[in-house]
Amino acid sequence: MRGFESLQGCFRKPGKLTEKDKTIEIRWHGRGGQGAVTSAELLALAAIDEGKFAQAFPSFGPERRGAPVLAFNRINRDSPIRVRAAVTHPDIVVVLDPGLLYVTDVTSGLKQGGILVTNTPKRLVDITSEFGGPWMLAAIDAAAIAREILGIPIVNTTMLGAVAKVAGLVELESLVEPIHERFGPRAKNNIDACRKAFDEVASAEPVAVGSEQRRTFPSEVLPSWRELLPGFIVAEAGNASQYRTGDWRSQHPEFDYQKCNKCGLCYIFCPEGCIELKEDGYFEANLYYCKGCGICDHECPKDAITMVEET
Ligand code: SF4
Ligand code: SF4
Repeated sequence: MRGFESLQGCFRKPGKLTEKDKTIEIRWHGRGGQGAVTSAELLALAAIDEGKFAQAFPSFGPERRGAPVLAFNRINRDSPIRVRAAVTHPDIVVVLDPGLLYVTDVTSGLKQGGILVTNTPKRLVDITSEFGGPWMLAAIDAAAIAREILGIPIVNTTMLGAVAKVAGLVELESLVEPIHERFGPRAKNNIDACRKAFDEVASAEPVAVGSEQRRTFPSEVLPSWRELLPGFIVAEAGNASQYRTGDWRSQHPEFDYQKCNKCGLCYIFCPEGCIELKEDGYFEANLYYCKGCGICDHECPKDAITMVEET
């Protein structure tokens, strides 16, 4: 759809181009385990294979599977890139988990005329009023494609196809070799998913004004740990019970009580301590805190737990 030239045109200042002017910056939003970091690395490798200069690096805290994570790219067609800082004013934002649209300000700093590409089960027309703005909005049901072709909703390679189409920073074919090298025998399906997303991603041109009812995100409402008073950590908003960390989750357990023998292994193994004993002796997950790790499913001896995608 659009290529390097048109993207540069989005933010080119009058006068002589600086190195920074020619560098396209990308911010990936995903959750631990979804492959945001791998996506950034594969995109950088594809750009380098085309003779461009590229960086890929993650922003890691103490996150674990399911927690929001960031990864970044910088790509410059002509010059080495010396900036190493995190990308705060991206030209392109890629969202691997649609749930993050509602808990993180993914468009923070997104340049006018940039691109927001998101994985979503919704149609483009249905998310335009919420996430449209002075940027191209692109949507693809990457989870459905990944489930169909890979058998699991890991959307990193699928989203790469969508990004290749709407941003035009690298050729689709340039992604094939890096995916081969990374995934080995699993490469073919990943390449198929990438190609399908390339073909199916839908996009809408920027609109003059973004959503005026700006969302308030949880991180803006709850105090940070530095603001919590000693001794009040248990009692006040912002403590562990107030942080409903279940919004990290991309899948949740469903229990089949026809199969369950009430052994309680799921309760014992849940690392979040969020499986609760019901009055009838069966167990259920408290979805305010379940992070969707799947350990309960893995440990259940009766195959009574199935992990189900969030919708
Ligand atoms: S073990 Fe099961 S209930 Fe506990 S966090 Fe993981 S998926 Fe959720
Ligand atoms: S581990 Fe499985 S069988 Fe045991 S209590 Fe949990 S759901 Fe039931």
